[in-house]
Amino acid sequence: MDGSSGMSIETPLSCAHCGKPARLQCPKCVELKLPAHGASFCTQDCFKTSWSSHKSVHIKAKSDTLSESNGWLYCIKKGQKRSPSLPYFDWTGPLRPYPISKTRFVPDSIVKPDWAVDGIPKAEPNSDLQNIIEIKTPELIERMREVCRIGREVLDAAARMIRPGVTTDEIDEVVHRETVSAGGYPSPLNYHFFPKSCCTSVNEVICHGIPDARKLEEGDIVNVDVTVYYNGVHGDLNETYFVGEVDEASKKLVRCTYECLEKAISIVKPGVRFREVGDVISRHASMSGLSVVKSYCGHGIGELFHCAPNIPHYGKNKAVGVMKAGQTFTIEPMINAGIWRDRLWPDGWTAVTADGKRSAQFEHTLLVTETGVEVLTARLPSSPNVYPWLSK
Ligand code: MN
Ligand code: MN
Repeated sequence: MDGSSGMSIETPLSCAHCGKPARLQCPKCVELKLPAHGASFCTQDCFKTSWSSHKSVHIKAKSDTLSESNGWLYCIKKGQKRSPSLPYFDWTGPLRPYPISKTRFVPDSIVKPDWAVDGIPKAEPNSDLQNIIEIKTPELIERMREVCRIGREVLDAAARMIRPGVTTDEIDEVVHRETVSAGGYPSPLNYHFFPKSCCTSVNEVICHGIPDARKLEEGDIVNVDVTVYYNGVHGDLNETYFVGEVDEASKKLVRCTYECLEKAISIVKPGVRFREVGDVISRHASMSGLSVVKSYCGHGIGELFHCAPNIPHYGKNKAVGVMKAGQTFTIEPMINAGIWRDRLWPDGWTAVTADGKRSAQFEHTLLVTETGVEVLTARLPSSPNVYPWLSK
């Protein structure tokens, strides 16, 4: 290849400002190896006039290479697609997605669910347990107790680090590390291609928020949803936390959501219909002028992450089935400050309120006993004191 052969047939470049033939190139663009198109100018005057708008391409190029070299990219679609730029969307509130970090490593010694490698659950969708509600054996129940206790300890570790300036990715890092060090697998990781080890849902995010580079801000609320897979079973729980000092409306929202879950748990015992759970929650939420999310429900849990029964949290629902001793399932009401309706971000995961107002959630994994209920993911004596209404 002759080094001089290309020189004579250069395409003429036009000035990015006025369109006349260009003979100067922005030195910064040359340094960053950016395309000459859009970086060429006819005179110093045109270059100077364009500077205030032109310089943004340097900042964008730098942040792109920085994010790509560190593996930080936006999640823009379910199914592992990543992009260096923020997608277009009619965002419903002030929150925006931030780039997400590289996939975290799980050691070979950890026993993994069947979606860990390729993102596709295989046993779960084909199981009979999607239609019939399993009555767990005492041995299985004992394993459920253990995984739920681990899940609680993992969530508590996340709760202890909530403060302004912490990124949700840093929360995910702790959830991942604590889960793995207990010998567990973080169930959300690669479940239907979910890219992280827990869900972090800030402000107007209802659920399934993806941990990213955004720093928590004073006045935010953030839900952390943890599921651990250990010894062949899953344990699932979540809580919503205050970041620093929050406004009165958010305090009311979070407290009411906590109470909705407590009231729902209080009716659990053999013979109660699953559809009654939604009536209790809906009554308490509407009393405070709040609304109940309809798109996401509580679920059976055990050897499968999600199975029968399906437990809606809204009133007058048509849920099928009656509670029996030995069943394990979650109740996880999502309560909105404004309307109940939800929207999905382009990442295919993040569910937000349609009106951009805040949403809160609490979740427990429960066991129906002969006389009532055992909260398998209950708070421990060691759990951090994060709710003023639980003090004394
Ligand atoms: Mn759940
Ligand atoms: Mn959960």
